Amino acid sequence: DSTHQVQSFKFEAIATIESPYQEKFAIPRQPNLVSAAKGKVVLLGAANNSELVRDIEQFSHLWLLFIFHGTQAQGWKPLVRPPRLGGNVKTGVLATRSTFRPNPIGMSVVKLDKVTVAHKQTILHISGLDLLHGTPIIDIKPYLPYSDAIIDADAGFAQQQPDAGLSVVFSKQAQADLTQYQARSEEKYSELALLIEQVLAQDPRPAYKQGKTDDKVYGMSLYDLNIQWQLTSLATVLVLNITKNQ
Ligand code: SAM
Repeated sequence: DSTHQVQSFKFEAIATIESPYQEKFAIPRQPNLVSAAKGKVVLLGAANNSELVRDIEQFSHLWLLFIFHGTQAQGWKPLVRPPRLGGNVKTGVLATRSTFRPNPIGMSVVKLDKVTVAHKQTILHISGLDLLHGTPIIDIKPYLPYSDAIIDADAGFAQQQPDAGLSVVFSKQAQADLTQYQARSEEKYSELALLIEQVLAQDPRPAYKQGKTDDKVYGMSLYDLNIQWQLTSLATVLVLNITKNQ
């Protein structure tokens, strides 16, 4: 009977994510805030078979269900402090999209750009992701606007899109660095300036610093690059330099 169902489940990852985001800092808080972020869903094992994704290209957007593997070991608490409430107010974990949940499962809608199959490897090329490099994917489903998009839904304390709208300026040094990386014509660097701009426009600083000036020099990593930046006013970020990680 239904009270004797199995209450424990074991899943294997069906794919892994290749992402520009190599660390948690500066990853956007939800998908589709940084459209220039391009990633790959690399199918694994028995799921690495193009039959599983036959006809998927008919869909412009996909749901990715994944494991918050980077924070999983830290466990969870019933109450969390969401950045949207300034980082000081506690609220129920299930009323948030916090990574510290009883089951560390995340869900993101991403744009599907194309599917490729080469050397027996099936890859879904996506954009707008909010996922750490190496994120294990446990399921993929098409996004269905007629059912999934609820235009007049009430989003509680998370009403507006949390875009800080900072303007981003590149220093002479940063411009020279950009030119150097883009000259290598590696595909991943082709939209590097736009990616940096969109990530910084969100103001990746901790919640308690939002809307405040700050003279700290921050470093963030995208791909194999380290980007140093600083706020020069309440509304402007200056990119200082871009160096390759050792
Ligand atoms: N869209 C997803 C959701 O609603 O389930 C994720 C929302 S969560 C607030 C987004 C944050 O999760 C990112 O800013 C990043 O810091 C973090 N994150 C992304 N991938 C992760 C991973 N694999 N492990 C741990 N944290 C991750």
